[in-house]
Amino acid sequence: KEFRNNVKPNWCPGCGDFSIQAAIQRAAANVGLEPEGLAVISGIGCSGRISGYINAYGFHGIHGRVLPIAQGVKLANRELTVIASGGDGDGFAIGMGHTVHAIRRNLNVTYIVMDNQIYGLTKGQTSPRSAEGFKTKSTPEGSIETTLSPLEIALAAGATFVAQSFSSDLKQLTSLIEQGIKHEGFSLINVFSPCVTFNKINTYDWFKENIVNLEQFPDYDPTNRVVAMNKIMETNGMLTGLIYQNTTRKSYEDLITGFKPEALAKQDHMITPDEFQKLVAEFK
Ligand code: SF4
Repeated sequence: KEFRNNVKPNWCPGCGDFSIQAAIQRAAANVGLEPEGLAVISGIGCSGRISGYINAYGFHGIHGRVLPIAQGVKLANRELTVIASGGDGDGFAIGMGHTVHAIRRNLNVTYIVMDNQIYGLTKGQTSPRSAEGFKTKSTPEGSIETTLSPLEIALAAGATFVAQSFSSDLKQLTSLIEQGIKHEGFSLINVFSPCVTFNKINTYDWFKENIVNLEQFPDYDPTNRVVAMNKIMETNGMLTGLIYQNTTRKSYEDLITGFKPEALAKQDHMITPDEFQKLVAEFK
């Protein structure tokens, strides 16, 4: 079960995205997947390169459209484990509409957001996750907008699995990805992933000082949505661990009527190449 390939990542040395790549590879192996059983779909941004760095099916999509592609892949072949991945700009700015609707749709996809609180690929602009007052070339006087809270939005949208981690905590991150893959429904895993080149505020040390690990609360109940929302707000969104899980709600695939479990390509109603050409000719 080898999820490494020969492609050398061109992320900056020290970028948090390296650990997320390693965590996905470890989690996939730990849950017993084979490379041909996994599809990694990514968006645009430094994080978007990840689909080319894992030995599995990959699709490097377009900005903000990770989730429509991932959901299409899953519906076309539900035998595949589908991991979608992108940055905070990709998922929480241009792609936010898709994120909210994918959450409430509850298709069986694991969505890993590499949250560095800045746009890295385009050389450092303020993102929806940047703090108020954050100065970059796009907000030289400091951002006057509030920071978007993806965990609160996910819970409000009816999420069945909400987790958060830190790229330096490989053990926790790997475990959460494993749990996300096993979860029957949509799983959101937001991962603090420092951009060492452009974000000089939210550094590794900053995250270490500000993160609140759920391990500190042994009585915490991740099945209680109200408790989860309160804890997120109490900790200013810096909570890490499995924050909320609802195993009682069925996934989208399980609710569709007449949906065959076999991949579309294996179903016998597929049209032949001749029939396809005939169909195309009708539209010429
Ligand atoms: Fe990582 Fe930032 Fe470099 Fe992009 S610019 S590879 S996010 S460190």
